[in-house]
Amino acid sequence: MILIVDDQVENIYSLNKLLKSWDFEVDTAQSGEEALKKVLKNDYALIILDVQMPGIDGFEVAETLSGYSKTKEIPIIFLTAVNTDKKFITKGYASGGIDYITKPVDPDILILKVRTFYRLYEQTVALNDSKEILKLEIEARKKAQQDLNDKVEHLHTTLESLPQIAFRADAFGNVFFVNKNWFDYSTDPAIYPEVHPDDITMEAVWEDCMQHLQPQEVELRIRELRSGAFRFHLLRIIPVKGEGGIKSWVGTFTDIDDQKQEERKKDEFLSIASHELKTPLTSIKAYIQLIERMEHKQPESKVATYIHRAHDQVSKLDGLINDLLDVSKIENGKLKINKKPFDMEKLIASVVETIQYTSAQPALRIERQGPLITGEIYGDAFRIEQILINFFTNAIKYSPGAEKIVLHTAKENDHIYIGVQDFGIGIPDHKKKNVFTKFYRVEESSVQFQGLGIGLYICAEIIKQHQGNYGVESTLGEGTTFYFTLPIS
Ligand code: ADP
Repeated sequence: MILIVDDQVENIYSLNKLLKSWDFEVDTAQSGEEALKKVLKNDYALIILDVQMPGIDGFEVAETLSGYSKTKEIPIIFLTAVNTDKKFITKGYASGGIDYITKPVDPDILILKVRTFYRLYEQTVALNDSKEILKLEIEARKKAQQDLNDKVEHLHTTLESLPQIAFRADAFGNVFFVNKNWFDYSTDPAIYPEVHPDDITMEAVWEDCMQHLQPQEVELRIRELRSGAFRFHLLRIIPVKGEGGIKSWVGTFTDIDDQKQEERKKDEFLSIASHELKTPLTSIKAYIQLIERMEHKQPESKVATYIHRAHDQVSKLDGLINDLLDVSKIENGKLKINKKPFDMEKLIASVVETIQYTSAQPALRIERQGPLITGEIYGDAFRIEQILINFFTNAIKYSPGAEKIVLHTAKENDHIYIGVQDFGIGIPDHKKKNVFTKFYRVEESSVQFQGLGIGLYICAEIIKQHQGNYGVESTLGEGTTFYFTLPIS
């Protein structure tokens, strides 16, 4: 908007008309005082200011405007009497936007000047706006940088306070921060601790990180500088993601050596104990068989019943010891799998018969859903039978009073699926993933049902050695399905 300031109403009228005919918005003031009031209240792009006015004259108005930040940039065109006032015009006004025009006003020249100043004003406004935006942007960036620095500082303090060795590495695995514990294992922040020659190398760990771009967890031994001994550590490396991918990695080495030694001692004990128990048990079994044969002639006698029960208990004990032996074989990498072609249907039939024959719940039905598995499967029939018996035994054990169990089968192009579904107590969601780990038992049911928590662990290992998959689906209070798949070829 343009402000015309003149004490002569006729002048205001003609200027107003002229400017409006050029589509400018116009406001007017008839004195210096009125002009000052309006300028402080409204925004003007240009002021056309008569110099000679009663009261505050044009120069004084200009001088006052130059003192306010809001108004000092507004361009002014003075209207002066010919040649008299020109020499005063340049003084006192800070902005470059100043010009004059002599009376009587030549409309063409006035419009020319108005348009030039108007454009100048628009450009100044645009420039100021961009300056403001730029200023805000710089401030925002400074703030973001400061926040980032604070976060990094916070992270480093946290890493420093950890009992573990902690480090940060750039996107390519080059270390740029280590905490003080690092120096128990390496003298140089840029050099990783020495890894035992039999364990995975740091290069290989980083290759995995770069390939999968996922958190990594490995166990390895690193050499402690003070003792020179290699100690087991759990190395965890976690990516820090930002815009456009991984920005850096945070890693920790947690000392698990004591734990490992304990585990090793326990495994050794288990292995020795189960071997030692096995020998006398085999003798007991043999003697019971001998007595059974001698008692054969009086099958209804009390002695025969007791011997039968003793035989059952010895079989259970035998099963437990075999499981313990299997665990120690798995620990030592000695669980042997003898793969041969075998008939899966025959195996299923035999397992179902055994289960029905030995089950303490005679009313229990075993239903079958799914196609017959025709053709031979390549695997260790004895071990696969072990899995099925385990799944069935658990299904019966963990569904007291249930009437049926369903065996599901399916055959895909390259694998078969076998699942055992029960309608028993079920497993809480967050515990499902643990049931295949060694010695794990679901707490809620561990008092009511006896067991060692190793059956599923052995099953998982057998299935892994057959390159199959396994899993569990379960709803608490409704039932559970344990399943595995085996490749056909
Ligand atoms: P065990 O049965 O000897 O404890 P397993 O390794 O066979 O050991 O099973 C591990 C745990 O998984 C069990 O202790 C039990 O808590 C849970 N589990 C296994 N099978 C079932 C099932 N069919 N229903 C509910 N829970 C089960």
